[in-house]
Amino acid sequence: MTYLFIADLHLSPDHPRLVRGFLDLLNAYKDKHTQLYILGDWFNAWIGDDYTAPWLDEIVEHLKQFTKAGNQVYFLVGNRDFALGKDFLNQFSGQLLPDVKLLNIAGKKIRIEHGDELCTDDVSYQRFRKIIRNPWLVGFLRKMPLSFRARLAQGFRKKSHEAQQFKSYEVMDVNQNAVKAVLKDVDLLIHGHTHRANIHNMDGKKRIVLGDWKEDTAQILEISNDPKQEIQLRTWHY
Ligand code: MN
Repeated sequence: MTYLFIADLHLSPDHPRLVRGFLDLLNAYKDKHTQLYILGDWFNAWIGDDYTAPWLDEIVEHLKQFTKAGNQVYFLVGNRDFALGKDFLNQFSGQLLPDVKLLNIAGKKIRIEHGDELCTDDVSYQRFRKIIRNPWLVGFLRKMPLSFRARLAQGFRKKSHEAQQFKSYEVMDVNQNAVKAVLKDVDLLIHGHTHRANIHNMDGKKRIVLGDWKEDTAQILEISNDPKQEIQLRTWHY
């Protein structure tokens, strides 16, 4: 069994190379009994499972083949694609995980999450997150026309981009106390979101930050059932 962890692909029709990189990854792991875990921001924006487009159809088609070959796809939402749900995933038997999920692999307790909740120093973002993730609001927006949701998402992205110009590097990273607290109960924490791929050691535990998908490479993580394996990030080229 191969456990594969990726995050922050930010797929969109504007960057076909990233889409190609993802489809190539599915191909490369198709015959490896893979459990693929996508830890959020799979897509650069997600306005609803009722959105369809040819570039997305191609991805779904490859995912169908991937799961038909005996592999699994697990997804937990990021801040960009939190509206992605079961209707989309059901097309290829993908499974929606809660925002935080605990796994047990090779005798290790592993916690996976997108990572934005750990950035507690970014107070304005946490406030925004609380509002936008409110189930009532999400339900309300779901009933709005796709074109309205698309305009809204574009507005949010612009606002977020502007706000980031005035935030320091430290504020946008994870808070060390938040990390300490979640590491207490596990051996390993895997997350994305900050786009700062690295493996950090803390109190004899590890925090693995997956990389965002850049022009032609991404830092991904592959784990096996071997308890003696050395855990390191792998560079995926496309
Ligand atoms: Mn993110």
